[in-house]
Order: sequence, then C-alpha cells, then structure tokens
Amino acid sequence: MATRAAFVTVCVVLVRGGMVIDENGARRADVLVAGELVAEVGSDLTASDPEVVDASGAYVIPGAIDVHTHLGLPVGAVTSADDFESGTIAAACGGTTCIVDFAGAGREPWEEALATWHGRADGHAVVDYGFHLTVTDVPEEAAAARRRFEAFAARGVTSVKLYLAYPDRLMVDDETLGRALAAARATGVQVCVHAEDGATIEQLTADALAAGRVGPEAIPDVRPATVEAAAIRRAAELARAADASLYVVHLSSAEGLEAVRAARAAGAEVHAESCPHYLFLDASRLTDGSDDAQDFVCQPPLRGATDREALWGAVASGELEVVSTDHCPFTRADRRHGTDPAAGRWHDFTRIPGGLPGLETRVGLLYQGVRNGQIGLERWVDAIAGAPARRFGLDHRKGSLRPGLDADLVVFDPAATRTLTASSLHSRSDHSPYAELEVTGWPVLTLARGRVVARDGEPVDPQPGRGDYVPRTPRRARRPQSAAGD
Ligand SMILES: [Zn+2]
Repeated sequence: MATRAAFVTVCVVLVRGGMVIDENGARRADVLVAGELVAEVGSDLTASDPEVVDASGAYVIPGAIDVHTHLGLPVGAVTSADDFESGTIAAACGGTTCIVDFAGAGREPWEEALATWHGRADGHAVVDYGFHLTVTDVPEEAAAARRRFEAFAARGVTSVKLYLAYPDRLMVDDETLGRALAAARATGVQVCVHAEDGATIEQLTADALAAGRVGPEAIPDVRPATVEAAAIRRAAELARAADASLYVVHLSSAEGLEAVRAARAAGAEVHAESCPHYLFLDASRLTDGSDDAQDFVCQPPLRGATDREALWGAVASGELEVVSTDHCPFTRADRRHGTDPAAGRWHDFTRIPGGLPGLETRVGLLYQGVRNGQIGLERWVDAIAGAPARRFGLDHRKGSLRPGLDADLVVFDPAATRTLTASSLHSRSDHSPYAELEVTGWPVLTLARGRVVARDGEPVDPQPGRGDYVPRTPRRARRPQSAAGD
C-alpha cells in the first residue's frame, strides 16, 4: 500500500506486552497509537518503524480523567496554588490526561465565568480540559432557563454545580436548585451539588466561635456528617421531583453514603464521587493540635476510620462511581494568611482557605486500594477514567483504549515505589498531605493524544497550550425510572 506523504510524519507508537485494562476488561495486549489516536488493540501487533514501548510487567490504562479540579481559583485574598500550566503538568506526571475544572468563583454571570476560565486555560494547559460551570442563579422562567442551559451545552459545558453551603458567596435556595434540575432534565445537562447544609453550618460555626473555639480542631464539629446527609436528602428529593439526575461531589462520610443509598431506593437518580483524601486521611489531622492542622483544612472536612471504610466499600461496589480529587491546593503562606485581605493572618478557622492537592497522586493512591484488596483492578481504572468519561460526556473521546479514541494512555508499573513528599511532586503546593506515605505502583509513562508528556513521574518537554479545550456531550437518553442507581 502506498503511503501518502502526509502520513509519513504521523508518529506511530507500539505499546507492547502490557496488561491492558479498560471498559473491555483486563487482557494482555499491544496498543498501537497512530498520531493522536488509538489505532488498534490486540495481540502481536506490528507496524512499520514504530517507536516501541516495552510494557511487559506493567498495566496499560486509559489516561485518567479528573472531573473535579480548581485551578487558579480565587478565594478571598488568596488563590489556589496551581494554575492551568502547573496543574496540568502535575496531572500528566501522575497519569491524568484530562481534567474538568469548575468555572466560576462566585456570583458572576455565567458568560463572564466561562470567558474568565477560558482565559486561564487556553494556551496554558499541557493536557486536555473541559469546564463545569458553578452557577448561583437560574432564570425564573422555565423556557429561559432551558435556553441558557442549551446555549452552554452547545459550547460543551454539559454540567453545572450548585452549592448548598457558603451563604455569603455561593449558596442557592431550593427553588434555584429545583429550576436547575428541571432545565437540566430537559437539556441533558448533569447537575452536581456541593452537599453540605449551609444554614446549619452557619449556626454551628457561630456557636463554636462564641465559645472561643477558633482553631481548625473545631471544623469537624461545625461541618459534621449530618449536614452532608441532610443536604443530600434535600437535593435528592428535588431531583426525584424533577425526574432529573443528581451528582454529589466529594462525598465524605458513611452517613452521606447512607443518604445516597436511601435516595436511590426511593427512586431518585443519584450519582456520587469521593476523593482520595477521604479515603486515606482522617480528622485527627485537624484535631491533633499540631501546627500543620491548617494544612488539612478542606470542605467537607476529613472524617473518621468508619467513614473511610464505608467509602472504600462503595468505591469497590461502584456505588461511588467516580474518584476525583477536588484539587485545590494552597501554599503554607497563603493558608497562614487566610482569605481575609485585611487581616494578614487567619484569626479563626472560617478564614483558612480550604482544599488539598490531589491531581498528581490520585491514580497511584487509588491503586493502593488494589494492592490492599479493597477494590478490584478493573474498578480502579473505571473509577479514574471510564466512569468519569461516561458521566460527564467525554466518552466519545476519552476514558477507554478503544480504537478511534484519543491516544491518552498510561503505562503503570505496579512495582514502582514513590514517596509522596511535596518536593517529589509537581504541584506548586509546598506541602503534601500524603508526605508520610510510601506507595508501590506509579505511572511510568503518560501519553496525551499520542505524545509523551511524562516519564517516570517527571514531565517531558511540557508545552503549555498543547492541551485543548474538549467540548463535552449532553447526557444520552435517560434510563427507565425503575433502574435506579446505575
Ligand atoms: Zn471542589
């Protein structure tokens, strides 16, 4: 067959002899990459003059997708430490080749939020990205709400998030959430919620501060699991009434999980994710009185051992279908400074910027669950790649090694060891919540659309702007009401 001149420059990579794991299960196979796409998966593949990657003894998995990040997010006086360049470099080093970041920082108009986030990401990202939109207002008239959802979905923004907490900055009332669910139902948009009951938190916070409890050790008491469960119940009931799908971000507690289960049993379509920090860390980091307690502040807060165990079980079963990161790191100086521009030092826990780094460590950390027998090998891959792609309209491009999809691919060495100190990682965060952890199993090669972007956990010729905006598709036809909780 004559080769057209244009084809000569197409880079061909043959990933040979690995254990391929994706939606089609785990099997020994070669993967042939041609240009930016997966060309073929099968036994004993050949190609003329390919670049050969020996993957024997390793897993070959789809590039991971992180559907919960906050890059360059302003929170009062401070901004999350990673921008789209450093954040996506960290992602690539840890085996993540696509992120979906939350556009919007407060009550700004939808259009403005999306434009701001495109400005932050376009020309800066090293791997591909999409946007959810954080919304605080939904048009009161149903047709107008639908038109707005449609207009954003047409631009690839097929999910929105609403907050049931933070009354001053972000919280919406039930009417707004109900209107969002109705418009989402009509347009194939996925509604996500930050499920913590803001009014109760305000009350508990006021009580704690009045009692002179100003340090981070008070946080678990003012944001207890009951407020997570209560918010889930409320949102799920609204979703059920609207016959709409609900996705609970960063589920943190056993009680919250029980609320998800109860809502599904009552006929609501509720999906949920958790994050590595809820699976690996616990609230003793906030309450042990040490100076670095402020470094473990996130919302919802870290919980207890029983919660961790319940969450691992739900990740294993697929009840928690996605594990994302809620990557939102701050430097120690910014944590100490706090969110109040005037103060220069936080004076109570409400001013400590909340959020942890996670983009680089999720793939390797979750694999520890495989090593420890907590989750299966295929579930590990599905939770970090397949499920997020399907849930958020990326599966036409990503989340699997199916021929024709983007050649986002990770060679993962189950024997590679790694210490998760900040200095060994690439986030601009100057501290790592997992610094004491030594893990076995780490990505040793990351391809993003066919190009090597990381090797042995280090970036390879990172090119800002090489990552593209990926428009996401709306949800497909809904499953029948009877099959709750897919
Ligand atoms: Zn978040």
